[in-house]
Amino acid sequence: MDFKFHMPTELYFGKGCLVENYKKLKIGQKAMIVTGKSGARKSGALKDIEKYLKETGVEYCLFDRVVNNPHLENVEEGARFCMREKADFIIAIGGGSPMDAAKAIAALAVNDMKAEELIGGSLKNKPLPTIAVPTTSGTGSEVTPYSILTVPGQQTKMNFYNSGSFPVMAFADPGYTMSMPRNVTVDTAFDAFTHLLESYLSQRGTPFNDALALEGIEAWSECIAAIKEGGMDYEIREKLMYASTVGGIAITNTGTTIIHAMGYSLTYFKGIPHGRANAMLIGEYLKYNYDSCKNKIDRVLETTGFENIGKAAEFFLSGTGEKPILEDRECREYAKLAAKQGSVKSNPRCTDEEAMYKMFKSVFGGML
Ligand code: NAP
Ligand code: ZN
Repeated sequence: MDFKFHMPTELYFGKGCLVENYKKLKIGQKAMIVTGKSGARKSGALKDIEKYLKETGVEYCLFDRVVNNPHLENVEEGARFCMREKADFIIAIGGGSPMDAAKAIAALAVNDMKAEELIGGSLKNKPLPTIAVPTTSGTGSEVTPYSILTVPGQQTKMNFYNSGSFPVMAFADPGYTMSMPRNVTVDTAFDAFTHLLESYLSQRGTPFNDALALEGIEAWSECIAAIKEGGMDYEIREKLMYASTVGGIAITNTGTTIIHAMGYSLTYFKGIPHGRANAMLIGEYLKYNYDSCKNKIDRVLETTGFENIGKAAEFFLSGTGEKPILEDRECREYAKLAAKQGSVKSNPRCTDEEAMYKMFKSVFGGML
């Protein structure tokens, strides 16, 4: 056996994990807190962070202008703010949008470059250190080096990552997700599931990472009834955050596959939230890949308790609301964009643009 596994983030998980370890927040002289408009406040995490920074005597400034699915201009604005304020570390609070934006801001603040040069480029200087406090349970961004940015010039989302972009520390307190509305809870839970599923089925999988992904799928499966019927108590929130964080660690080591590659267009062109877009594709993905990794997909069905792929697809579609209808030309265009994503290469079954066109057609375009 022969594999590499990497997870350098110092992770604290559980109720009160920030309160118990707040002295660790002092990793510099001045923090830039990066948030979206409302999530950090509603969750209570922003109030806690501000209180603990004051208690530890760390100066801070607040940038609360990260938009959902952050774009290049948004992170450039954040980087200018960081330089102006002379912050020397970053605390990201929120869902994937603020956490991802923070990673790009941390890189741009110390490198003289445009945000678009981050994609696929290298960094001269190591990004500022970042601490992540998730308030959703979906992306696992608190433990990944990935920053998914909307790139208008390419009409899609693209991934920036660098070995220096892992948060140095993450405080994953499920209590901060209690305020999430039901639709965000379900959408983000679907995202977490696709990370675990795609990582487990990825060609880049290893026995060690497979075990981790399955552990996450098992925890996530205990939340299926709550996702279906409501009743998101603390215990369920804790399981979802656990599954999401484990999913983040799993994709750090494998990346994702075609669900993510295909889902980006649904978010970019149709405004469908990331996790919901992914969920619409799960049934077709399982069908397409079944013959290439039958045993693994059977294991997922057994762990989740779905009788078959059809029942799994039914469950996910019942949580996504109405699917958009795509014109033929849209299916072609989305497939072309998906084929450019690097994650396609890790799909369990070898895939190309034509195959993804057929999948888009089958899910969103009526009969072929
Ligand atoms: P998000 O865009 O960060 O947040 C979704 C919504 O939930 C926002 O309106 C936000 O409000 C609100 N919100 C967040 N926490 C809340 C809370 N505790 N209470 C009430 N409202 C709350 O959603 P996300 O699904 O977590 O992140 C999606 C982004 O992450 C996408 O850009 C996706 O591509 C990316 N992603 C990254 C990775 C990775 O590995 N880095 C993996 C998958 C996806 P405000 O905006 O007003 O604060
Ligand atoms: Zn995702």
